[in-house]
Amino acid sequence: MVQKTPYIWFDGNLVPWDEAQVHVLTHALHYGVGVFEGIRAYNCGDCSAVFRLPEHVRRFFDSARILRMTIPHSEQTITDAIVDTLKANNMKEGYIRPLSFFGAGAMGVLPKDNPVQTIIATWPWGAYLGEDALEKGIRVCTSSFTRHHVNVMMTKSKAVGNYVNSVLAKMEAVDDGYDEALMLDTNGYVSEASGANIFIVRRGIIKTTPLTSILEGITRDSLMVVAKAMGYTVVEQQFTRDELYVADEAFFCGTAAELTPIREVDRRQIGTGEFPISRALQKEFFKVVQGQDPAYEGWLHRYSC
Ligand code: PMP
Repeated sequence: MVQKTPYIWFDGNLVPWDEAQVHVLTHALHYGVGVFEGIRAYNCGDCSAVFRLPEHVRRFFDSARILRMTIPHSEQTITDAIVDTLKANNMKEGYIRPLSFFGAGAMGVLPKDNPVQTIIATWPWGAYLGEDALEKGIRVCTSSFTRHHVNVMMTKSKAVGNYVNSVLAKMEAVDDGYDEALMLDTNGYVSEASGANIFIVRRGIIKTTPLTSILEGITRDSLMVVAKAMGYTVVEQQFTRDELYVADEAFFCGTAAELTPIREVDRRQIGTGEFPISRALQKEFFKVVQGQDPAYEGWLHRYSC
């Protein structure tokens, strides 16, 4: 169960966690139209830092624009509210969840007088797939669920309804004894996991899927920059599940998943079971987010509790 924190920012005010409630006729509960973000703050020793805050806030507003939903706050207000919520909850590190959605009003599919409501919650969240996962890697299966076609759901929007597909894939994977689901796109190429992007390493080259049917991951972008700076060649290219089977290394990445190595896909071990390049990248990633590499200071929004 999620660990409670004292406050949730709700339509402009910090309210006690238990009082942040909505009506059961909230439009988004019925039709799934809402947008959200997943952001992390890291403890950097003498202060804390939100990782790539402007990029997350930008994507939040872009997600809403795609859904023709107008968030009645400015990007600056949301940015300030995120930091205020972290401070009010005395959180030196943790996960941040902004969410905007159509509230109660008209009950038809068409949102009419439904207000756009916004919350920002923060809570402590360790390694999404477990500490062991970061260290030893995870077991993955190709999902029986296909990732959205770009004209069926809006894949560049981090939209609430899009996650029905993710939840189905994740439930199936976990019930079948795996840690995570890998989804293929409607053409059969590798797309992403239920809540993370994917990279493979083959013959020293780091490869990730192009931005067609996937969410434009901010961790994905960060890792491409960091890997290039470390001297690796990084390409964005479609690949198939059998190329993944013969990759030397593979990993998922995302705000929650951070950089999680994949040790097995569909009962095939990936490479030798060691992941030197993934590990080197993961080590550098944690240095970057924890403010230990000055080259990436621009990605940190520092604050103190
Ligand atoms: N794909 C999906 C479907 C996701 O839910 C996430 C998590 N937001 C990602 C990729 C990774 O995105 P990010 O690195 O921005 O967290």
